[in-house]
Amino acid sequence: MNKRGYMKRYASILLSIFMIMLLCSCEKPAENKLSSTQVMMDTVITVTVWGTDEETLNGAIELCKSSEQILSRTVAQSDVSNINSARPATVSADTAELLNLALEISEKSQGAFDITVLPLVELWDINNRTSPPDKGEVAEALNSVNYRNLKINGTTVTPNGTKIDLGGIAKGYIADKVCAYLKTKGVERAIINLGGNVCVLGQHTEKLYSVGIQKPFALHGESAAILKINNKTAVTSGIYERYFEYDGRIYHHIIDPKTGYPADNGIQSVTVVTENSAVADALSTACLILGVDGGMKLAKQYNAETVFILSSGEIKVSNGLDINRNGTTPTITYK
Ligand code: AMP
Ligand code: MG
Repeated sequence: MNKRGYMKRYASILLSIFMIMLLCSCEKPAENKLSSTQVMMDTVITVTVWGTDEETLNGAIELCKSSEQILSRTVAQSDVSNINSARPATVSADTAELLNLALEISEKSQGAFDITVLPLVELWDINNRTSPPDKGEVAEALNSVNYRNLKINGTTVTPNGTKIDLGGIAKGYIADKVCAYLKTKGVERAIINLGGNVCVLGQHTEKLYSVGIQKPFALHGESAAILKINNKTAVTSGIYERYFEYDGRIYHHIIDPKTGYPADNGIQSVTVVTENSAVADALSTACLILGVDGGMKLAKQYNAETVFILSSGEIKVSNGLDINRNGTTPTITYK
């Protein structure tokens, strides 16, 4: 990664820290609160738990580490690397389950979400590029992007010429795993923040948790809106997260598999709120491409709510949410 790439990554780390601070800012000092922050999965993760012990907290962090080893495309011998080595691969039952969910959301989003997008992700190399690739290169990479070619039979995955990247869904999936693990340990309250992919488990002591939705392209930590939730996950995809500017245009990390180019539809960010974080993660990526109408329709199929921020600055929320625009920063709650 070049210097710019590191600067952007550093900024996203600061954002993650901000979100955690915001989440905890309205707390009374609570007893038995434990927290661990680590750099992994290409970002900063923080797990905060109440009413449990260090061993349980460490177990949650270990689970993140071991999941990353299985799902990362840059870890040799991970399930993803094995699939990308162009031969049928045997993966864990968990990975097969995740891939099946990814394919289901590909189908429902009419290919907007497509984990076989890796050749385009590598071509665009958003952290290091300063100008777009040639049209011919985009067309060539597009040729091998098609989720329908990826075949899953039990735990055997046959790539059929595709290469996969789980960057649009893995963090949500791991957040779900951590939540489930904590529940098995009897934990009733926790906040899992995997680089801004947030799950709040249980009830806030007094009211609802506050999760800041980053204002696109503003100083990191500046909220466009505050989401008030309990027992939910909130996942944001934004075009401001990783991008370069060329000839007055923004080229970012979410690629429309129909065109081979970063989505360019006036949507700056989408936050998806629901119970399942893997679903929310994939949906936020898909919604960023599909736009307000298509995105809200898709999210509805998963009983998920959405918050869209448009390039005009307008904030649109789905039917199940209320937005109160009276304060300096709008607040968003469930109806
Ligand atoms: P997110 O930040 O969750 O929206 O995920 C963005 C990441 O998902 C990118 O950095 C890529 O690794 C990957 N990605 C980009 N475009 C797509 C797409 N259309 N479908 C699935 N994954 C994608
Ligand atoms: Mg995503």
